[in-house]
Amino acid sequence: PIDCEPLKALVRTVPDFPKPGILFYDITTLLKDRKGFAEMIDAFAQHYIGSDVDLVLGIEARGFIFGPALAYRLNAGFVPVRKPRKLPAPTAKVTYDLEYGSDSLEIHVDAIEPGQKVILVDDLLATGGTMEATIKLVQQLGGEIAGLAFAVELDFLRGREKFAHYDVFSLLHYD
Ligand code: IMP
Repeated sequence: PIDCEPLKALVRTVPDFPKPGILFYDITTLLKDRKGFAEMIDAFAQHYIGSDVDLVLGIEARGFIFGPALAYRLNAGFVPVRKPRKLPAPTAKVTYDLEYGSDSLEIHVDAIEPGQKVILVDDLLATGGTMEATIKLVQQLGGEIAGLAFAVELDFLRGREKFAHYDVFSLLHYD
């Protein structure tokens, strides 16, 4: 397997963004590195290649960076999960709790056919709330979840404990 550990040097941490007290992991510095970006997509592809995947689903907005590149490599389709009122055709919607307030995500109701095998992709796993909500959308449509993929996982927040039944694959881990 590809050792992604050296890529951590390309991730920028920004203190107090978007709010005081939060340390933000900024992957734009990794994305613009041609070798770094290619290695990430290669590492994702290597993990799933040979398994039967129909669709890669990306969560707005940073899931849209990795999802399509991975879908191309796996010969799968791409499905966007979006913030409310962005998708034009009939949607399914899920609302989930944030630290303060709540947020919603939507998917086109015809985006996944029952039984299709789907990989769900986002840039970063923190508490897992975003991915948990997305899983509900996929389940509503009858999709079969083949895996959860993240560029970065904040291990200390233990988000992966929400996903004991799934294959959770992250490239970079922070303790
Ligand atoms: P969770 O729902 O708590 O797991 O938070 C994950 C979501 O918040 C993902 O969609 C991330 O894009 C975003 N997020 C949270 N913290 C960070 C960060 O430090 N860097 C980049 N995105 C983050």
